[in-house]
Amino acid sequence: MTDIAHHLGIAKRTAYQYLSHPFFPEHQPYTRKVPTVIEPYKDYLYQEWMAGRQNSYCTKYRDALIGHKSIKCVKTNDLDAETVAVLETLPRLEQLQISHRRIPSSLNLAGLSSCRYVMLNDVRQLESLDIVANMPSLECLFVRGPKTLDLEALSTLNLRELAMWCFFPWTEMDPLFSNTKLEYLCLGGIKPAPEDCGRFRDLKHLEQIEFNSSSHPFDFYARMDSVLSQRVDRNWRLLVRLAEECSVHPGHPLLQASGSRQRPFCELCSPKRLEKLAVCYASLTGVPLPVPKVESEQFGMSKDGKHYRFFT
Ligand SMILES: [Zn+2]
Repeated sequence: MTDIAHHLGIAKRTAYQYLSHPFFPEHQPYTRKVPTVIEPYKDYLYQEWMAGRQNSYCTKYRDALIGHKSIKCVKTNDLDAETVAVLETLPRLEQLQISHRRIPSSLNLAGLSSCRYVMLNDVRQLESLDIVANMPSLECLFVRGPKTLDLEALSTLNLRELAMWCFFPWTEMDPLFSNTKLEYLCLGGIKPAPEDCGRFRDLKHLEQIEFNSSSHPFDFYARMDSVLSQRVDRNWRLLVRLAEECSVHPGHPLLQASGSRQRPFCELCSPKRLEKLAVCYASLTGVPLPVPKVESEQFGMSKDGKHYRFFT
């Protein structure tokens, strides 16, 4: 067999293959059928490629995916000008999820004309929101990770939802307040300056607002309560009644105030503490801090089952 292969100038394995056929295999003209072959897998390949699983196969056929009509959602953990150019050819792209620590600052997604949701997750090195500036259809923006962030680009958008899980200090937030259609706002660890709290009144369509409920002092949440309309849903409660009882007064539940450095306390053991909170609340909101009598009130259970809601 080695001799035959050597004589014909073919590999031994090929010789075995030929011999296994009942007839000598005629030369098959090779036709490149790639586009039809990958057609059913386009969506899958594209998503895999965008999810960062860019093996040579996916990368090789990247161009074949340009302009794919059915793709609505793309996830990527790698973003460069070439990728953006491909994304711009997807006519129905609505959602874009990017997890990328070093997005080049020159990139801009304004060419993604149908894109309504952008999620910038774990974008630790992002310094500016210029990447989303002037996106024509952008309604919802989620950002998590940056340590400082230039927000100027927010003034070029008209968002319905904005969530920023970042822990940089509140500085210039004018661009945020130009988004007057905001319905949902989450500012994670960012605390507005006291003099800016009143500006949240400008967000007339606001339905829900969230801050990290243990990051800021009690008076901040009280101040925000005084500014926000009653119908705005918020993720903090100024005071909740815990399921946990006082060890000195059995049957008497502990109270927990919103805010940093607030520990659960017993109303009977620490009456002064409750008084201090009440004074603070009243001075900021102009209304007394309601402290219902425990026995006579009906409370709703919180979602995690640990807290009874004091206020609704
Ligand atoms: Zn007690």
